[in-house]
Amino acid sequence: MSSTHIVEAVADLLRHADHVAVLTGAGISAESGIPTFRDALSGLWAQFDPDEVATPSAFERRPELVWDWYAERRLRILEAAPNPGHHALVEIERRVPRFTLVTQNIDGLHAAAGSRAVIELHGNIRRVKCWREGTVFEVWQEGDVRPPPCPGCGAWLRPDVVWFGELLPEEGLRTAWDAAESCDLFLSIGTSNLVEPAASLPWMAHDAGAAVVVINPSDEGQRRGRGIHFLPGRAGDVLPALVAKAWHDEPSAFPPFRRERGRGAGPPSSN
Ligand code: NAD
Repeated sequence: MSSTHIVEAVADLLRHADHVAVLTGAGISAESGIPTFRDALSGLWAQFDPDEVATPSAFERRPELVWDWYAERRLRILEAAPNPGHHALVEIERRVPRFTLVTQNIDGLHAAAGSRAVIELHGNIRRVKCWREGTVFEVWQEGDVRPPPCPGCGAWLRPDVVWFGELLPEEGLRTAWDAAESCDLFLSIGTSNLVEPAASLPWMAHDAGAAVVVINPSDEGQRRGRGIHFLPGRAGDVLPALVAKAWHDEPSAFPPFRRERGRGAGPPSSN
């Protein structure tokens, strides 16, 4: 089947689906200028061993370094804006009867685009929480002392993200599993499918009888087979095209998108 025919077939699935479930990974935010995990040559993770910055024991050993590393990432993320891929998912949510959005991203760009009830499996870097009691804060005081103290108990604050070796939020995970098992269409967007348990969601949906659509410029790590449609390309191109094809006769609710200077498909070179 040619890619035009695949887009038409997937648009048809989208138009007739009762429950669309979506899993997004770092790739959907690449066009917003946020480096993906596997951007090995220029990525943040190429310069830091995850064991040194993204584990509870790393934080215990070097709290200031870990705090500063996340503060730097947070600053870059706060400068980023949602891209047409994020906006297209908002559009799909408005048009289908039931919609579940699960993300592995910690950047908060789905909510910034207007998506509702996003299941953030790996947390959100825009929030912090108490290292001792887990109380979550959206706003906190920065000062000379890093990490800053929890306003409640004085223990360190830490980023509200799930580190390697930590448990994922139980309720979010259960909702994601339920969605994978009950949806009729599952979109897997911008993920290399290497980090479990999120990686299994598309294939759970497939085994439960849903059509699975993979949107990614690369097919590395993606399954092939009956009921799995691969749409090669960037999320910011493919998703708006799909929406336009599915609901071409209805007015689009896309907000205008302005590409900023220096922001392209790839991560900033300084990373
Ligand atoms: P990953 O880095 O392992 O894979 C990214 C995938 O996106 C790759 O398959 C790549 O081919 C694809 N991709 C690149 N550009 C794309 C585009 N424009 N459109 C669509 N796809 C594109 O990411 P992952 O699978 O999400 O797993 C990495 C882990 O790192 C996750 O746990 C996540 O929490 C974390 N992470 C999050 C962010 C973020 O919040 N934006 C960024 C980096 C890492």
